[in-house]
Amino acid sequence: MFCSHCKQDAIIYLPYSKTHLCEKHFKEMFDKRFRATIREFGMIKKGERIAIGVSGGKDSCVLLYSLAKLREVLPFEIVAITINEGIEGYRNKTLEFAKQECEKLGIEHHTFSYKKEVGMTLDEIMKKKGTEEIPCSYCGVMRRRLLNNAARDLNADKLALGHNLDDIAQTVFMNIMRNEPLRLARLNEPLVEDDKFVPRIRPLMRAPEKEIAIYALVNGIEIDFQECPYAKHAFRAHIREQLNETEEKYPGTKFKIVNSFFAIEKALRKGLQGEEKFEMKYCKQCKEPSANDVCVFCGMVEQLQAI
Ligand SMILES: [Zn+2]
Ligand SMILES: [Zn+2]
Repeated sequence: MFCSHCKQDAIIYLPYSKTHLCEKHFKEMFDKRFRATIREFGMIKKGERIAIGVSGGKDSCVLLYSLAKLREVLPFEIVAITINEGIEGYRNKTLEFAKQECEKLGIEHHTFSYKKEVGMTLDEIMKKKGTEEIPCSYCGVMRRRLLNNAARDLNADKLALGHNLDDIAQTVFMNIMRNEPLRLARLNEPLVEDDKFVPRIRPLMRAPEKEIAIYALVNGIEIDFQECPYAKHAFRAHIREQLNETEEKYPGTKFKIVNSFFAIEKALRKGLQGEEKFEMKYCKQCKEPSANDVCVFCGMVEQLQAI
């Protein structure tokens, strides 16, 4: 099969736009979409300092590569952050990938660990809690806190995350199916602003997961396909499968879900903020913004220390 734009062999077929693309035209399309997303949401301004959460997986490595490349036309600073949860046999390997990619691109890289910041590794937490617990609920809270604080300590203007189109479409669906309008409303930005929150950007949110993997491959970005041994997202896995099936039958569905979200986001946020139940407090212990007297993070750490 030939590329729809030239006489070269195609390396990928995109059913949603009915196009076959060669390597050169695929890269061009991917880069163009990446930059258009950044422009559309005003994600990065000239001279800003952007922190990137780099786990070492394909999404964050492609994000790092693409942002580094973007600096050729838009000058800004990049600093990479990796959170080491302390997962024996897994994170130490992806950490190496993250380091290696940063070195290749000449990007400043910092690692923050659960051990140092929380006092225990995820392995230790799971030993305490037993296997019945859902590890991801700890990581959701802890990684978010560590990333935000790291970005803030490093004087970053924004924190860039590697969430892709599939991730966002899944999250939109999950929040609707679980009747969590608040979570849906703050999917892309928090409902309450605070100087202590570093604004988050997701420049890959219009990039399908499959295309990110191919983009990594054709650009020589080494990727590790190993998954976190604790990953236990039963519901997300179900939604993911359903969405992939629907996408196959009705190409473009994932884009449409994410676009629908952005179409209703403003009205949803306005409606919820009008209810005025967002009184911002500060945690008694860590002084971070919190909905309650003690924040979820401190509550979690306290509970773990008591075991
Ligand atoms: Zn071509
Ligand atoms: Zn706290």
